[in-house]
Amino acid sequence: MNIKLYELREDEKPALAEVMARVGAGDAQMASDARMAVGVRVAGDVPVGAGAASRVDDAAKPGAAPQASDAPKRGAAPQACAAPSDITIDTVPDELGLENVASAQGFDAVVISGRSAMTAEVLDRLAELGVKYLATRTVGVDHIDVAHAHELGLRVCNTGYPPEGVAEFAAMLMLIVLRRYKPTLWRQQVNDYSLGGLEGRELGRLTVGIVGTGRIGQQVARILGGFGSKVLGYDPYPSDAARAAGIEYVPLEELYRRSDVVTLHVPLTEENRGMIDAEAINQMRDGVVLVNVSRGELIDVAAVTSAIEFEKIGALAMDVFADEVGIYHESRVNDIIRNRDMAYLRQFPNVVLTPHMAFYTDTNVNSMVEQGVRGVIAMAEGPGSWASEV
Ligand code: NAD
Repeated sequence: MNIKLYELREDEKPALAEVMARVGAGDAQMASDARMAVGVRVAGDVPVGAGAASRVDDAAKPGAAPQASDAPKRGAAPQACAAPSDITIDTVPDELGLENVASAQGFDAVVISGRSAMTAEVLDRLAELGVKYLATRTVGVDHIDVAHAHELGLRVCNTGYPPEGVAEFAAMLMLIVLRRYKPTLWRQQVNDYSLGGLEGRELGRLTVGIVGTGRIGQQVARILGGFGSKVLGYDPYPSDAARAAGIEYVPLEELYRRSDVVTLHVPLTEENRGMIDAEAINQMRDGVVLVNVSRGELIDVAAVTSAIEFEKIGALAMDVFADEVGIYHESRVNDIIRNRDMAYLRQFPNVVLTPHMAFYTDTNVNSMVEQGVRGVIAMAEGPGSWASEV
C-alpha cells in the first residue's frame, strides 16, 4: 500500500517515526499481525524502527489514542487489523491542492491536515488518479467535501485525538480573559504594575454555557466542575455521558440568557455557519464572555465585532478565525496580511486571539499522525474497520 502524507511539519517527524516503529514492530493490538513488520518503508528522511518498545502500551495511558469506550464514531483506538504487507509512506511538507494534485499519482491513500482544501474538483482528480482512501489528521472535516468523496467511492476518515488538550486550552482562555491577563502583560512590558482596571472574576462563581456537548464539550465540563462552575449545555443530541460530566441541558435560548461564559464546541457545518449572529448575541447576558476554539466561521464576525465595540460582549477569546489558512501556523512578520477583521479585533484589550493551537500538544501530535496513518491502512481492510470513518 502506498501512502502519501501531505503537510508534514518538522515537529511531526518524530511522531511519524514512532508510528511506523509501532506499526512495524507491532503493538498490543497488532502484535498478531507479523506482516506489518515486513516491508515498511518511509520515503524521505524519517527514521524508522526506534522507540517501539517504550511506546507499546501507550494506548492504555490517559491521553493516548482514544479508547474503545469512546463514542462509536470517535473511537479511534488502535484497532486490530490485518494491514497490507508492504507499506510505503511518502511525505511532503506541502498542502494538497489542485495545483499539485498530480503528485498523488501512484498512491492508494493520501493523509492530509487542515490546510489542504479537498474541494469537489480536487477529489475528482484524486479519484481519477486511483486514490481510494483519504485521512485527515484533524478532528474537523470542514475542509473536505465529504459528500462528494462518498459519491466518488473515496473513503474518508478523520482523527479523534484525545479531547483533553483542546478542553484545557478552552479553560485557559476563559481564565486569561476573566483575569485580564492580556492588558496585564501589556503593562508589565513597560513596568506598569498598577492594578486599576484589572479586577477579575472567578470562574468557579460563574455559569458557563457549553454549546456542543461532544467529546471536547464534555471534557470542558469536567474541568469546570473542578473549579466549581455551574455548567449548562445545549446539543441537539443530548447524552448521558455529558450529564455525567456535570452538564445540565437547557434550551439554547436559556443557555444564552443564563450563561456568564458561552463556549463553542460544535463542528462547522452549513447549518452552524454564523450561528453566533446578532440575534444570538442579543439573547446573551450583557458583558458575556465568548470563547471559540472550534471554527472561526461559526461566528458572524461583523456582529461579534459590533458587540465588542458596544460592550455587549465583555470579552472574546478565539483560537480560530475565518480565513485563517495562510496566516495561522505561518510566520508572516514581513508580510502585508489581508484580514481586516482579525487585525481590528486583535487590538482590543479584552480580545485574545490565538493561532489555532488548542490541539497542539505532544500527545495530540503523536495521536494525529498515528491515526492518520492507521486510518488509511484500516480502511483498506474493508468496510467498518476504522471507527473514525466519516
Ligand atoms: P464531537 O463530534 O465529539 O462533538 C460535537 C458536538 O456538537 C456533537 O455532540 C454535536 O451533536 C454537537 N452539535 C452540532 N451542531 C450543534 C449546534 N448547532 N448546537 C449545539 N450542538 C451542536 O466533536 P469534538 O471532538 O468535541 O470537536 C468539536 C469541534 O472542535 C470540531 O468539530 C473542531 O471544529 C473543533 N476542534 C478545534 C481544535 C483546535 O485546535 N482549535 C481541535 C480539535 C477540534
